[in-house]
Amino acid sequence: MGKLDNKVAIVTGGSRGIGAASARALADEGADVAISYSSSADQAKAVVADLEAKGVRAAAFQADQADATQAVGLIRRVVEQFGRLDILINNAATGGGGLVDSEILDQAAIDRQLAVNYTSVVAGIQAAVPSLPEGGRIVNISSGAAARAGFQGMAYYASTKSALEGFSRGAARDLAHRGITVNVIQPGFVDTEGNPADGPAASMFLPTTAMGRYGRPEEIAAGVAFLASPQASYVTGAVLRIDGGYGA
Ligand code: NAP
Repeated sequence: MGKLDNKVAIVTGGSRGIGAASARALADEGADVAISYSSSADQAKAVVADLEAKGVRAAAFQADQADATQAVGLIRRVVEQFGRLDILINNAATGGGGLVDSEILDQAAIDRQLAVNYTSVVAGIQAAVPSLPEGGRIVNISSGAAARAGFQGMAYYASTKSALEGFSRGAARDLAHRGITVNVIQPGFVDTEGNPADGPAASMFLPTTAMGRYGRPEEIAAGVAFLASPQASYVTGAVLRIDGGYGA
């Protein structure tokens, strides 16, 4: 018996990194899992095969989160195919940014980042809420950058995550009467394609953590699985730092 038997979960950006690890952690607890991706169809297919090998139903959906209508469509397609929705893990996001005083700021990229990391996440939550039952779970993957800039060039990315955290607190208040919890995870530096532990920025990042190492996607996924579980029934509006002490 798993803690999430008979539950259906969506993990956005589940084709790799923290999203793929979260999808696996939810499936390990018995949940059927839908993942979304933007371009990594082959990787998404491989994750689905992993999930199915655990004995749960799984499917991958292409949905570009830069487009809020696709984020809404994702929710509709999953509910149609799986018949219900219990757990929404908003993980897909895009990094990058630039210096606030840069003369070559790419405003289109900044606007797209806000759409992917915030506007479409909100649209997806709005679309999911009518389907979520008592005991429903929403987990939003933020970033340690929302609480502490730490470095130059973080302003635009950090502000998308801060907006997501503010929305999450408000949503936790608004949805508590329906028994739906809304929580945030703030990962620190996690070894993924988006931020490889052997990448050029790692030597700058590592000394800012207390533990002096990158996290593994599975270490974030463990927090996702907890917040999605019945054991987290009295946790809402919370921010869980899983960051090796970056925010300590
Ligand atoms: P990643 O390795 O770059 O993977 C990103 C995932 O999101 C992929 O599945 C990707 O799909 C999907 N995605 C990106 N843009 C999308 C779009 N427009 N529409 C739909 N899906 C899209 O990311 P990660 O490092 O695992 O990070 C996951 C989450 O943790 C993000 O919210 C990130 O901000 C947060 N985070 C990460 C770190 C870190 O150090 N890794 C630190 C703090 C916070 P495709 O494969 O199709 O591109």
